[in-house]
Amino acid sequence: MTEHVNDRATLLARLRQIPRTPVLIVGGGINGISTFRELALQGIPVLLIERGDWCQAASGALSRMIHGGLRYLETGEFTLVQEALSERNRLLKNAPHYVFPLRTTVPVDSWSSGMLGAGKRFLGLDTSTPSRRGALLLKSGLALYDAWAGRYGALPRHQLHDSAETRQRWPGFADWVKYSASYYDAWITAPERLGFELTDDTMQACPAALALNYLSLQRCDGENITLSDRLTGEEFTLQPHIVVNATGAWIDRLNGTLSAASAGEKLIGGTKGSHLVLRCPALLAMLAGEMIYYENLDGRICLLFPWYGNVLAGTTDIRVDNPDAAICEADEQRYILESLKFIFPHLPLSENDVLYTFSGIRPLPASDAATSGAISRSHSLKLIPPSRDRAFSTLCLIGGKWTTFRSFGEQAAGRVLNLLGERRKVSTEALAIGGGRDYPDAAHKTAWIKALSDESGLSPERITQLLKRYGTRVQMMVKFIVSEPDASLYTLPDWSRNELRYLIRYEQVQKLNDLLIRRTPLAVSGQLSTPLIEEIAQLIAQERGWTAAQTKQALAETCAELQREHGVHLAEV
Ligand SMILES: Cc1cc2nc3c(=O)[nH]c(=O)nc-3n(C[C@H](O)[C@H](O)[C@H](O)COP(=O)(O)OP(=O)(O)OC[C@H]3O[C@@H](n4cnc5c(N)ncnc54)[C@H](O)[C@@H]3O)c2cc1C
Repeated sequence: MTEHVNDRATLLARLRQIPRTPVLIVGGGINGISTFRELALQGIPVLLIERGDWCQAASGALSRMIHGGLRYLETGEFTLVQEALSERNRLLKNAPHYVFPLRTTVPVDSWSSGMLGAGKRFLGLDTSTPSRRGALLLKSGLALYDAWAGRYGALPRHQLHDSAETRQRWPGFADWVKYSASYYDAWITAPERLGFELTDDTMQACPAALALNYLSLQRCDGENITLSDRLTGEEFTLQPHIVVNATGAWIDRLNGTLSAASAGEKLIGGTKGSHLVLRCPALLAMLAGEMIYYENLDGRICLLFPWYGNVLAGTTDIRVDNPDAAICEADEQRYILESLKFIFPHLPLSENDVLYTFSGIRPLPASDAATSGAISRSHSLKLIPPSRDRAFSTLCLIGGKWTTFRSFGEQAAGRVLNLLGERRKVSTEALAIGGGRDYPDAAHKTAWIKALSDESGLSPERITQLLKRYGTRVQMMVKFIVSEPDASLYTLPDWSRNELRYLIRYEQVQKLNDLLIRRTPLAVSGQLSTPLIEEIAQLIAQERGWTAAQTKQALAETCAELQREHGVHLAEV
């Protein structure tokens, strides 16, 4: 097995050996990770650092949609929609373990509303809050969507439903809903895992590539860059040729750290978006596997869809200056719950049904648009050449949807390759990711599961469960699971101790929340409890050799973070 590549002590030992590296990428969100993969696969020695855990910021706070962005047609961002649709279709093929088609319904109140407003917005004459979009407007948008998506041939075409059909399928809709349209996009079940799997794939394939979490860029004297291990305080000094600034909402802050001359320059103007995970069996049953993508009373697009046995609802879009302030505030929670009542007025929903919240800052380009919804969702690159006070080039990644991470990373890597005088050798367009590699199609799944079950001695049901959680990475995992005696967690029998030990040992888990929030869906699925967290903390303590006092402190920090950032109130540990 090759998983030892992710042992932190080994990775840090490698880091101590490299005072120079051609490319340093700062920021382990999906765009930094993608650029890392693109460059490493071309044979470039590259170091990726993330000051927290992989995909802990915007890249773990998305609405879980892998989509073309129907809404962006209205603001004329046609190139972005085409790029996103082709990337969506690629992800359906390259990450079939986590990315799935999602039937989406859009409720509308009339045939014709919104035409004038949309025309004005498209011509740039109106940047105010959008007016309601009618069925005809939607139909033209969906026709374009189908035409572009069809080129890559993945999902069924859209349909319009008259008022009888709409009422029959959605008896709970508010009276203002007269018609509806349905179309297909996609969703992702484990974006944080896919981000991690990209780093892991890359390190396994490219010996000169190194990716470390909990390592931050601390300071720069113009030539030497100092990195700091956030777990031990150890410092490392490097002299890279090129720095890729992929810090999302923190881009301006990092540029200020890299050079005093850049302090004050504004490339990013983030907006905060929050989501709620709701326990509402009635709504879940009504959704029956579909997403509702609707316009709230104020014209903002909201969405809700089934999420690990609960319902995911969002989102807000609020301009913020401080990127560290990504917490779902009480008024945002109220806004989202009210928006649900706007579409389903008879639902018995209250704040008591909120199991979990999450929030993130969209790293959008700095803009003086009148509303946050009118800010471009497209991405761009800005190169800052070396200067008197900075010995290296800096390439800044501005914007970038989750859906378009591959193409944006490819574009960023292209600029870096030009600077280095190197050429692209490998394309990632059709490269499967992590547990999506050799993923069995529907016709072969049963045989695949049986073969692994026979080989490992684990039941077909257990292999099915693990395949769903980790894709074909389960092949590596089962070798570990059966290599020593295993047992179910006593607080959550669906999960086993060796399964979690594998994640701790081989998937760069440094803190309890890395495991609870980002390597597993335990937190986002609303399953957390004090006994469960205590049991898992003991497992990490055994693996990492934590003392009783360290374990107690880790538990206290974890619970405080869950309460502050995710609205999870647990009984005292
Ligand atoms: C509410 C919301 C909903 C969204 N919904 C969708 C959606 O449904 N579909 C979609 O395609 N996109 C969606 N997006 C957009 C998408 O999630 C983001 O655009 C994308 O994740 C940005 O990734 P990033 O890597 O650029 O930034 P981030 O994920 O924010 O990563 C930047 C990283 O840099 C690190 N960093 C900062 N400073 C330092 C330093 N000094 N040293 C080391 N590391 C540092 C940070 O810790 C952070 O992890 C949504 C975004 C939000 C916020």
